[in-house]
Amino acid sequence: MTTPLQARPVPDLVTPVPGPRARAHIEFDHAWTSPSLPRAYPLVPARGFGAAIEDIDGNLFLDFAAGIAVNSTGHSHPDVVAAIQAQAAELQHMSASDFYLPVYAEAAAELARISPMEDGARVFIGNSGAEAVEAGLKLARHHTGRSNIIAFLGAFHGRTMGAVSLTASKAKYHAGFGPMLPGVYHVPYGSAGLDEIEDRIFARLMPASEFAAVIVEPVQGEGGYVVPDDDFLPQLRELCDRHGILLIADEVQSGAGRTGKMWALEHWDVEPDILLTAKGIGSGMPVGAMIARSDVMTWGPGAHGSTYGGNPVSLAAMLATIRLLEGGLVANAAIRGRELMDALRPLTDHFPTLVRDVRGKGLMIGIEFDSAQTADAVQLQAFERGLLVLEAGDNAVRMSPPLIISRAEAETAVRIFTEAVAHVAAHREADLEELESEIKAGYATEAFGASGR
Ligand code: PLP
Repeated sequence: MTTPLQARPVPDLVTPVPGPRARAHIEFDHAWTSPSLPRAYPLVPARGFGAAIEDIDGNLFLDFAAGIAVNSTGHSHPDVVAAIQAQAAELQHMSASDFYLPVYAEAAAELARISPMEDGARVFIGNSGAEAVEAGLKLARHHTGRSNIIAFLGAFHGRTMGAVSLTASKAKYHAGFGPMLPGVYHVPYGSAGLDEIEDRIFARLMPASEFAAVIVEPVQGEGGYVVPDDDFLPQLRELCDRHGILLIADEVQSGAGRTGKMWALEHWDVEPDILLTAKGIGSGMPVGAMIARSDVMTWGPGAHGSTYGGNPVSLAAMLATIRLLEGGLVANAAIRGRELMDALRPLTDHFPTLVRDVRGKGLMIGIEFDSAQTADAVQLQAFERGLLVLEAGDNAVRMSPPLIISRAEAETAVRIFTEAVAHVAAHREADLEELESEIKAGYATEAFGASGR
């Protein structure tokens, strides 16, 4: 009989990592899976509970990565598990594109209720973040009759053809796939980008009247957990209003309570025309949604749909997740986020040559280092000590734990992370050599911001 995870301290490593089973599994994996998958480090998860993940060797990790900011309610939250089980026993699929699936309308009504759109919203539900982005793109073009889009440098919007054309966090995402979707213009993220929109794009390249939408992450995710200056989003809203351009907020990573408010845009009191959600809204079940102001959702039957979009089991998980978020997890994200920021900020004083910045909102925290190699090495050292974090951007490591974390778990994470940074500060050359050998062994992907999202 396996020991219940709840009975063990977290973290609790019982082998050096990766352990023997993990090593064997990684070899098997390398023979069969698409080599396009970027791998951050050699974790082979088997089961999870709360903020703990056990690998196939029985090592227990404290999870501050949450499956790339997804497991908002923690791993296998009992309410989410019960909702999934009950729905799976009733009805697993009956395409909502063709039939009036009750849970689909119920989920749409809930998303509209919690959306920041004051005058009402309607909802299209899909299976992922990228699908929400594609739906937003299509609706923006359809509604405005215009085709061009503005996006931001550093943005990540997904990997399907339209979404990857908007993505501009790493050139590698475009390599070999061109030409990208035409009519996409990128400008710097933050208020400086607004001048470029007016002075470079609208004045010299393409008039404002040709633009359907601006798509923005209110806090950039894969770009490095970048919080914009306070003027940026309100001024962007104003610019869009002035030119009749739709504002699409991609809250796939920043939404669902992660920043300590349901939607990150709420920190700046800005209302989008279209809001995209996925990741944390389904606690790990595949679900994403495009929420649009009712007067923007003007397309007719057949304009868009999806066989699986709004799968009832995923929607049951999403409804349970929303109840938990509103029932205290959003508030917990705000409190734990403040504690974590206060505890992590001194790293810039303690390791001034290595740690350049600690920033974030709620439980979306980025620690920026002097180089990608340092960030990689810290990530690996944290893993070897039982703490899961993930790189982001060029030089940053992100903390995106489940929203259920306790104060004690936050303290443990800070202690281990500080040890990892101290180790890299003291043994930089040896740590970089170790990283090099992990990359050679195929356990991690070279210089990619390995998580790749
Ligand atoms: N948008 C943002 C802001 C993201 O962070 C991501 C994924 O990381 C996506 C879109 C794409 O989501 P998915 O991987 O579910 O397609």
